[in-house]
Amino acid sequence: MSISSDDKKYIWHPFTQMKTAENPIPIVSGKGSLLIDEDDNSYIDAISSWWVNLHGHAHPYIAQKVNQQMGKLEHVMFAGFTHEPATTLCAKLSRHLPQNQRKFFFSGDGSSAVEIALKISIQYWKNKGIRRHRILALEGGYHGETFGAMSAGAKSIFSAPFENYLFEVDHLPFPSDEEATLSALKSQLEKKDVACFIFEPLVQGASGMRMYSSATLNKMIALCKQYNVLCVADEVMTGFGRTGTYFASNQLNIEPDIMCLSKSLSGGTLPLSLTTCSQNIYDSFLGDDLSTAFLHGHSFTGNPIGCAAAIASIELLEKEECQKQIKNITNRHRAFAMEIAKHPMVKNVRQSGTILAMDIRSEKRGYSSDIKQLLYQHFIADGVLLRPLGNVVYILPPYCITNDELNKVYNSIFEALKKVE
Ligand SMILES: *Cc1c(COP(=O)(O)O)cnc(C)c1O
Repeated sequence: MSISSDDKKYIWHPFTQMKTAENPIPIVSGKGSLLIDEDDNSYIDAISSWWVNLHGHAHPYIAQKVNQQMGKLEHVMFAGFTHEPATTLCAKLSRHLPQNQRKFFFSGDGSSAVEIALKISIQYWKNKGIRRHRILALEGGYHGETFGAMSAGAKSIFSAPFENYLFEVDHLPFPSDEEATLSALKSQLEKKDVACFIFEPLVQGASGMRMYSSATLNKMIALCKQYNVLCVADEVMTGFGRTGTYFASNQLNIEPDIMCLSKSLSGGTLPLSLTTCSQNIYDSFLGDDLSTAFLHGHSFTGNPIGCAAAIASIELLEKEECQKQIKNITNRHRAFAMEIAKHPMVKNVRQSGTILAMDIRSEKRGYSSDIKQLLYQHFIADGVLLRPLGNVVYILPPYCITNDELNKVYNSIFEALKKVE
């Protein structure tokens, strides 16, 4: 069954512009790493459909668990009620999260998880009767599309139309120069009015898979803790094995106070997110009346079907087979990185676990660069879904990707480089 162009005309796709308006590829089905379109062309989903998919598309085990839950309880409001999928999910997650993460607040997407983290941080200090209102973030960060998340993120073409409506956030230099970042952090902390520091641990996703060391992040968090500043790890992209460990924060020797999870939380099947925090933070919200309570709740908070998908995804992730695959992808990437780094058109090849990224040498940079479009078209024609961020080509595959599929992705990058040369 093909979609008629008359039916297609109503949909406003993200990022539509005149010259691309628009011929979205109609996807009919998915299986493993593959997406299959109306004309039976297949595409290897080498970026996990915007970093969400974990075990492949239309996974039968997740589908079965979602189905069962659908027939039992589809939804119930979450103020004053609870259910087994939510409690099981949180108990399972608590075994992988840093030990201090004890309380879990549900929402529906990464941006909301970030808004909640910021609101919790701000209200925590209000509840304590201490004046601390400023928010620190890293230059080049991306935390989502809502106003708070945009405020914390880097100023860009995405946020430009709304600049007058964003609240003030202080941005620290990206920690490529550790000393500069630490000294900027210290001078901010000395003002003693910082409520929280939010960061994407180890890898900044949307700004171009920019990576920095756990050693530096350890020092930054340690410094924040000296000044009692809450540290918020936005693991919306880095969570669930992408960086080689269950969470990127597992590579730190110091625990963040708050964490944001979404994207692969449900295996990339349903919208679901969590903001987790320490007992100490939660306790500050318990008072005799509502004035210190966290008065925030989305209609679909704690949706049981999303939770069922997340439990199924975590069960798959815990399997030895999946852990082996994560190691295999990491090793294959490492070998490819050595090869591609020799190419004259490539620089800054970098890797964190299953995420591999490189810059393509080009006059034109930035998100809307022509090179991005040229590369994207090449990959699609080649049956590979890779969507460069400006001149940054990266691979972030689902864990079910096969060695043959990985080879095809690697080859497609080599072929693309011939075209831009
Ligand atoms: C994608 C992303 C978000 C926003 O999540 P949405 O579900 O798209 O709202 C927030 N933080 C990071 C680090 C992300 O990569």
